[in-house]
Amino acid sequence: MNERALVRQLAKHSPRIGDDCAIIPHGREDLLVTTDQYIEDIHFRRTTHSAADVGWNAVARGLSDIAAMGGEARHVFVSLALPPWADQRWANNFFRGVRAHGVELAGGDLGHAPQLYCDVTVIGVCPHGKALRRDGAQVGDHIYVTGPLGKPRKRFLPRLKIGLTLRGVASACMDLSDGLSLDLARLCEASGVGAELGDIPMARGATLATALHGGEDYELLFTSRRELPHFRVGQIVARRGVRLNGRTLKPQGYDHFQ
Ligand SMILES: [Mg+2]
Repeated sequence: MNERALVRQLAKHSPRIGDDCAIIPHGREDLLVTTDQYIEDIHFRRTTHSAADVGWNAVARGLSDIAAMGGEARHVFVSLALPPWADQRWANNFFRGVRAHGVELAGGDLGHAPQLYCDVTVIGVCPHGKALRRDGAQVGDHIYVTGPLGKPRKRFLPRLKIGLTLRGVASACMDLSDGLSLDLARLCEASGVGAELGDIPMARGATLATALHGGEDYELLFTSRRELPHFRVGQIVARRGVRLNGRTLKPQGYDHFQ
């Protein structure tokens, strides 16, 4: 099984599937809705992440999707299944991490499971028709990322403020959750274009391989006709596929089913 193929299949039945958030028209605004799972031993280990780190990151992933759409985050819902090792103190610290984002925790569900399992829904808003989608990249656009890549931090900051500045500026946008090579391939596929990559900004301690294929950068990846003060990594071209310095770059980022 392959995650992209499964999403493509599901998207045949709904135009809202396949972007960072679903866009739901609501009066003069659009609601932006995203859900993300955060699972022990898949996304984190309890030996390396504190309870507050887990709470922070579980919500940060959803907030990053709101940022990728140019939205403002309004409400967070957290469903949490606790394993036997997680006590009251752990749960309190987890929710301290959740609340540290300053976005209202509006509900959720509590349960138990053999390992810690967390499912987060975030609701955001943006003016009607202004959400940044991943299908608008045009031939000739510059490709940008908002920070150096390849060295995930224990806690990351969702790029909500930058996302707001990209409304009306970016032709396409998404967040880098699964690695530049895979996420850029998704953006190009959605937009019906290709990409030529050149300079890749690397974080301290990163290698070119982790910068290209490592997941969890949570920087924004976007395209624009304009010259902007972000890291320019390449250009959108008509020829399909993603190339780095002229060589085909296979998408090798994180796919849950590979
Ligand atoms: Mg995303």
